[in-house]
Amino acid sequence: MKGPWIKLLLVVVAFFAVISCKKDDGEPPIDPKAENRKSLGVSAEDLLSEDIYDRITIELVYAPSYRPTDIAINEFRNFLNARLNKSGGINIIETVIEAPSGAPFNIEEIRAIEDEHRVHYTVDNTIAVYIFFSNGVSTNDTNTSVTLGTAYRNTSIVVYEKTVRDIALNNPNIELHDLEINTLEHEFGHILGLVNIQDDDIHTNHEDAAHLKHCVVEDCLMYFESTDGLRLAERLAKRGVIPSFDPLCIADLQAKGGK
Ligand SMILES: [Zn+2]
Ligand SMILES: [Zn+2]
Repeated sequence: MKGPWIKLLLVVVAFFAVISCKKDDGEPPIDPKAENRKSLGVSAEDLLSEDIYDRITIELVYAPSYRPTDIAINEFRNFLNARLNKSGGINIIETVIEAPSGAPFNIEEIRAIEDEHRVHYTVDNTIAVYIFFSNGVSTNDTNTSVTLGTAYRNTSIVVYEKTVRDIALNNPNIELHDLEINTLEHEFGHILGLVNIQDDDIHTNHEDAAHLKHCVVEDCLMYFESTDGLRLAERLAKRGVIPSFDPLCIADLQAKGGK
């Protein structure tokens, strides 16, 4: 009977030795990617205000031939300038990668692509956002509904550029860059916390109860129709203008330090 007890005692002693070693080492090693591994909406204030970060890096990642249009990139820059307090500057960086294989992609695969290819992370006074322009469509797509983009972490967005281009090809009256702009700005709205992502909306009647995390105002960029490619195509064809934030959404952004 003695043998096993001594073994157990040794294991326990070894266990506490490991624990105390860890303690003695002081601070655990800091994961340089931890700041960008948080859940959607938690960095809204860090993105909007400049209390902590007065600069932002936007990393556009794409495979050759899936680069978004210049018009979309320029308009997106104007959109960011209009809403974010980043007096140190908005820096848009492009990272070209080899086309990831295995499309269509589910969200776990989209996360894995980010883990492999993202270059820029939040550091010092610069917050970084990653946007992947996917060469493959989403596994969620059906005959009646297609996903144009998803915001899936605090600073991570995927734009299904393949889907965006297919819709533009099939709808000659819709400009590719309009679809790109609408998708980029809508998904960015989500990482800015819209609508009520963190359950801290300053309004009582703002989030659409039938389409959660979206805005009740039909003319707003955060109205749910922007999420579905086929609905959005119809909407853009009918109205001819890209929606922008309505006053409710802007008030929420300003409450968190935005312009
Ligand atoms: Zn949405
Ligand atoms: Zn709104």
